Amino acid sequence: MHEFQSFCAMIEERFFMFSFGQKKSIYLDYAAATPCSTEVFAEMKPFFEKRFFNPSSASLLSREISSEIQKSRESIAKNLGVRAQEIFFYDGATEANNMLILGAVSAFKREQGIIPHIVASAIEHPSIVETLKSLLKRGEIELDFVPVDSLGRADLKALKNLLKENTALVSIGYVNNETGVVQDLKAISKILRKQRKKQDTLFPFLHSDIVQAINYVDKINPEKLGCDAVTISSGKIYGPKKMAALYRKKSLTIDPIFFGGTQESSYRSGTENVPYIVGFAKALENARKKQKEENERLSHIHKKFTEELSLLFPELIMNTPSLDLCSPHIVNISFPRVAHEEILFRLEESGYICSMKSACKSGEEGDSHVILAIRGENENHLPTGSLRISFGKDTVWKDLENFLKDLSEIIKLIEDTHQRFLP
Ligand code: PMP
Repeated sequence: MHEFQSFCAMIEERFFMFSFGQKKSIYLDYAAATPCSTEVFAEMKPFFEKRFFNPSSASLLSREISSEIQKSRESIAKNLGVRAQEIFFYDGATEANNMLILGAVSAFKREQGIIPHIVASAIEHPSIVETLKSLLKRGEIELDFVPVDSLGRADLKALKNLLKENTALVSIGYVNNETGVVQDLKAISKILRKQRKKQDTLFPFLHSDIVQAINYVDKINPEKLGCDAVTISSGKIYGPKKMAALYRKKSLTIDPIFFGGTQESSYRSGTENVPYIVGFAKALENARKKQKEENERLSHIHKKFTEELSLLFPELIMNTPSLDLCSPHIVNISFPRVAHEEILFRLEESGYICSMKSACKSGEEGDSHVILAIRGENENHLPTGSLRISFGKDTVWKDLENFLKDLSEIIKLIEDTHQRFLP
C-alpha cells in the first residue's frame, strides 16, 4: 500500500511539473531553435509599440521607420562583408530558399528559353529538397542530387560530372542541420567557376543555405566563399523566428514570386516586419561578436561528449564527423537494434529536449533523408534511425555528464526489455 501511495505521489508530482512547466529541462535542440536574447527583444520592443508605423507610408514618421530597415540591412551586409543592396529580407529561411529557387528557375527560363538543370546535395534541408522535387514533378526543371560520402561530404567528382550546359543553379548548404558536417564551399565554387569559363556563361550559380553556420563558423563572407547567394536565418541566432535574409549578387537574376507591393525592391511584396528586421540585425551582430568564443567553448564540450559517447556505447554509430569537418554545435548518433523514437521519448521524460531529424520533417514517418544518404548502399545494414543533440549558449558540461548517465540507463532499459520480450 505504501509503495502504491508513493507511486501515485510520484505520478502526481510529474503531472504537476509537466502541466505547470516546473520540471527542469535541459534544452539540447539549439539546431531547431534558439531563444530570442533579452538584448534583441529590447531592441525590437519600440517597433511593436510607439514606432509601429508602416515604413512604406508617406509620413515623416514612416520614413524614419524605413531608414531603420536600411540601417539593419547595412548592418547585416557589413557583418557578412557584402553590399547592402545585395541583402533582401524574407519571412523565414524556408521562404527565402523557396523564393531563390523558384525565382531563379523562372528567370533562367525567361532569359535562356530552355528548362534549367538544378543540382543540390542529397542532404539539403527540406526547404530545398522538397521545392526542387515539386518543380521536377511539374516538369519545370531537370534535377540531380549530388551523393555524399559516409561523413556527409558532397562528392565533388560526382558534382563535376553532373554539370551540364543548362545547369543554372547548384545549391549546397554550408553546415548540415542534422549532422553538422561542413561542406567545402570554396572547392565547390572553384568547380563551378571552371564550368562557367568553359561555357563562357554566368551560370551555374552557387547558392548555399548557411543558416546553421552563422553562430560558429569563422570569417563568413559569401563572396570569399565563392557563393552567388546565401540564406541566413534569425531564429537560429538568438533572434526572432520567421525572419531571414538572402544575400544575392545582382548577376543572379531571379523573378519575383509574390506580387502586390514594391517592398524589398519588389522581390518580397508586403509590409515589412520592422521589429523582426531590427532584431535580426542585432542578433547577427551579437552572433558574429561571440562566434570565436562560442566555437571554442562548444568545441571543447563536443570533443569530450563524443569521446565519452564512444566509450560508453562501443556499438554506437557517430553520424557526425570529427571536429575538423563539422560545426561544434551538433552531435548526431545512431544505436543499433533500438527504436530512436523510444530513446527520444524516454530522454524527454528525464527532462532532456533533443530531436531525431529536422523539425520541419519530424511530423513525417520514416528515417531522415540525411542519414539515409550518408549510409548509401548500406551493405553493413547500419541503423538508419538517429538522435540529434545540439548545443547552444546555456549548454554546460555538467548537464551533458548527467545526460550521458541517463542515456546509459535508458539504453540499458530498452535493451533489457527487448531481450525479455522479443523472441
Ligand atoms: N535551412 C536550415 C539549414 C535549417 O536548419 C532550417 C530550420 N530547420 C531552415 C532552413 C528553415 O528555417 P525556417 O523554419 O525558419 O523557415
